[in-house]
Amino acid sequence: MIIPENIWQAHSFECSCGQVHSQPIKDISITKGALDKLGAVKENLGETYNKGFIIIDSLLNELIGDKIKAALDQGGILYSLCLFDSPQVLPNETSIVKIMADLDDTIDFMIAVGSGAVNDLARFISSRCRIPYISIPTAASMDGYSAEVSLLVLNGIKKTLNATHPTAIYADTSILKNAPPKLVAAGFGDLICKKTAAFDWRISNLINGESYCQNTVDVVDQIVEKTANNALKISERDETAIKDLAEGLMLSGIAMHWVGKSRPAAGAEHHLAHFIGMKAMMKNHPVHLHGIEVAVMTLVMIEVYHEILSRDFRNIDINVIYENSLDKDAYEKRILEVFKDSAPQIFKENENKIFEKEAWLAHAQKVKESMPQIKEELIPRIPDAQRIISVLTSMGAPAKPEELGLTEEDLKEAILYAKEVRNKYTILDAAEYLGCLEDVAEKVAAKMSR
Ligand SMILES: [Zn+2]
Ligand SMILES: [Zn+2]
Repeated sequence: MIIPENIWQAHSFECSCGQVHSQPIKDISITKGALDKLGAVKENLGETYNKGFIIIDSLLNELIGDKIKAALDQGGILYSLCLFDSPQVLPNETSIVKIMADLDDTIDFMIAVGSGAVNDLARFISSRCRIPYISIPTAASMDGYSAEVSLLVLNGIKKTLNATHPTAIYADTSILKNAPPKLVAAGFGDLICKKTAAFDWRISNLINGESYCQNTVDVVDQIVEKTANNALKISERDETAIKDLAEGLMLSGIAMHWVGKSRPAAGAEHHLAHFIGMKAMMKNHPVHLHGIEVAVMTLVMIEVYHEILSRDFRNIDINVIYENSLDKDAYEKRILEVFKDSAPQIFKENENKIFEKEAWLAHAQKVKESMPQIKEELIPRIPDAQRIISVLTSMGAPAKPEELGLTEEDLKEAILYAKEVRNKYTILDAAEYLGCLEDVAEKVAAKMSR
């Protein structure tokens, strides 16, 4: 395994997969007292870091505002404040305008203090206004602190927009360990899913020849294992266990930079989570935290993997499967029924979907031929669901689809259509060509709803 020595600083290295991997974030620190590094931004990030702009909500300001200001004072760094009254900052137009209104041309850099929304806002404004930003995570709740996209809600609709990564991330474990239990459980969910995400990547590599890096998978897998082994201590707020969790999530973010795509961090379990999130919004049902949804959907995917990989596909007749598959018209009708107003977005995502017979059969043949190797490689590595369930339960987090408000029918529909939300090949795509997706969805939904 190749792990760069300076993994928490910007780096570039030649990997065994033949690619050069790099990570652009200048300084990442995950430790007790990491906040103090704010006083040394000139030394670490550049002489132009004279005046900061702290984006923070009132609750966090009460808890750690003074600490942040003290660290900046210590280094002689000037600052001004963008204070959100409500403890719940929404990543929408109103918040964007508030930040822009408080900004002025004396500001050299922004400091985003918080978990999801504040970072999404800072990433977006940083990229559009070309003002660098530093992220101060307050919860190890997801792997997106180093991301280059922003998830915003514009006109009431969730949108992913291109944005900019922070120049530094200072994650103070003495702050992280006091985050609400729900956020910590979400972080565990967004980390433990990396195992099935890597399976989906490998499957696309074997079937489609998609570029793949075993080294990246191994590096992420090692830290996921380390965190999982210690995970029961996370609920006790053991600072080392929280640090492991934060490092695991951060490394997963770095791994996405290395390979220039989300493959090491997200697979079908994320598609399932996006799908149920879309459905919840359509029905005006409560939406759960990203990592909470991902955790439960990882358990679903573990069942899906067991169900598919235990089958024998050597004697399937791909011609019969093709005859039973939906043609373009039937497919479009079905998508309209399932996705309603979001259907146009789904059609765009799937514009290269294969309907033409020869191409369909050629791909199905490739899937069929790849299955023996996929089974041989992956069956021994399917994660232990029970271990994940006990960690989630210890944190009081949901571990069953019904705890997210999903009926057996909802879950079946999610397994059947989740693959449509992203044009990213997973075992659910392969299952369609193997003619078993419907049956797998039914069996797994029934089993998970018992
Ligand atoms: Zn590589
Ligand atoms: Zn995620």
